Amino acid sequence: MPLEDQTPEDAGPLFPDPTPAPATPERFAMSRHVEVTPDFRPFDQPNDMFSRGFWDPRFANRVTMKFFRSFVKPQERMRDEEGFGQQDFALRNGPWVVTEMFAEMHKAKGRRDGFTDDFTPHLPPRVDPAEIGSPQEAARGVRKVAKLYGADLVGITAYDPRWTYRSKFSARTQTSRPVELPEGLTSVIVLGKAMDYDIIRMSPSATASAGPASGYAEDAITLLALAQYIRSLGYIAVANQNDTTLAVPYAVQAGLGEYGRNGLCITPEYGPRVRFGRILTNMPLAHDAPQRFGVEETCALCRRCANNCPPQAIDHGVPSTYRFNRSNIKGVRKWTTDGEKCFKFWVSRGTDCANCVRVCPYNKDRRRPLSRLVLWMLRQPALRRLALRLDDHLRLHDQIKPSAWWKGRVETLDKARDSPPDPDLKAQQDRLKAIRDEKYGTG
Ligand code: SF4
Ligand code: SF4
Repeated sequence: MPLEDQTPEDAGPLFPDPTPAPATPERFAMSRHVEVTPDFRPFDQPNDMFSRGFWDPRFANRVTMKFFRSFVKPQERMRDEEGFGQQDFALRNGPWVVTEMFAEMHKAKGRRDGFTDDFTPHLPPRVDPAEIGSPQEAARGVRKVAKLYGADLVGITAYDPRWTYRSKFSARTQTSRPVELPEGLTSVIVLGKAMDYDIIRMSPSATASAGPASGYAEDAITLLALAQYIRSLGYIAVANQNDTTLAVPYAVQAGLGEYGRNGLCITPEYGPRVRFGRILTNMPLAHDAPQRFGVEETCALCRRCANNCPPQAIDHGVPSTYRFNRSNIKGVRKWTTDGEKCFKFWVSRGTDCANCVRVCPYNKDRRRPLSRLVLWMLRQPALRRLALRLDDHLRLHDQIKPSAWWKGRVETLDKARDSPPDPDLKAQQDRLKAIRDEKYGTG
């Protein structure tokens, strides 16, 4: 069946679910709100918005192709707008050359390493596993090596087939295909790479997009180096970036942060300003426990990401199993983002956006004493509201001017809206949800 004729439930019909859904709802990683329900269905990569940009007639058009191409080919015409000039796009496109090199390397075999496929091993592994000590010692060694190779955060958790795609997408044939992974995977090493604080403060602009671009490039190198280290010790190492497995659930399970309203893993060190790569392995490693430091409680009070999302793609309400469209996973109770709205906004602007990262009160430059004070207050249940008010007052999340950044100054371009819920926006989203529920019976 062609992908466009499939309902969200049909997608990937040829491939069995790698894991059965739980009989009763299961709490996820110590969360109070997020749970996996009996309706759970692993995600199909063809439903990812970037894949849909290639096959879904609603998104695969000339403007989307121009958007994809613009990351590797300089645009002919620029918009006369702050942060969207030739120098800004050049800054964004510089690091993409690294990621694109890996993506193109095995194109002849139908692979796009790092996007639809795991990174292809470049050198042969050792055949017999080396002596690596106890799982605790081995985990300590992996952490040390990952940091040496460039990771800012490292967490280790059990391999969980729920977060493996049920089917993959092939941009070449425009069809879904099976996911092939080696037998015997037991652990996942999650590597976090923080993005530059000042760069992200210029979102939404092409200048700010240099943050994720550099994050991807650095992450690819760290992943490849660590995977080769593990293979050289005689163990399996499958390095994932945007492919094969979901990043956020693994980052949360590996204890690197908590799930937030913006759909991202919020870390204590950098907030949501982190990219996560994963290495799937059979190396015997000790696992980290998930951590809670009050993000869910803060998100219940704060809607700054939802209020500052230009196309209003972020949920203003409470966690639910509601799906805006086929790009949302089925059967997980959580805050959900409307990927269609987000993607359309990116395409219309010609570059990605990071407003939901920029405005989050956990996105801080920890070198500043006042930022550290806000972060400390956010951990104290009795001071959380006050912390949000102080953070609003400090206005560290306002957008800064790209032209000023180029000159080495920091000047505010646009004020971020305050965190109290905007009743009009929430009412508008609830109305849209009710209309969809009635039309599609998804309530
Ligand atoms: S990236 Fe931008 S458009 Fe997308 S959800 Fe975040 S704030 Fe909204
Ligand atoms: S901006 Fe506020 S609501 Fe959004 S993820 Fe951050 S803390 Fe949660």
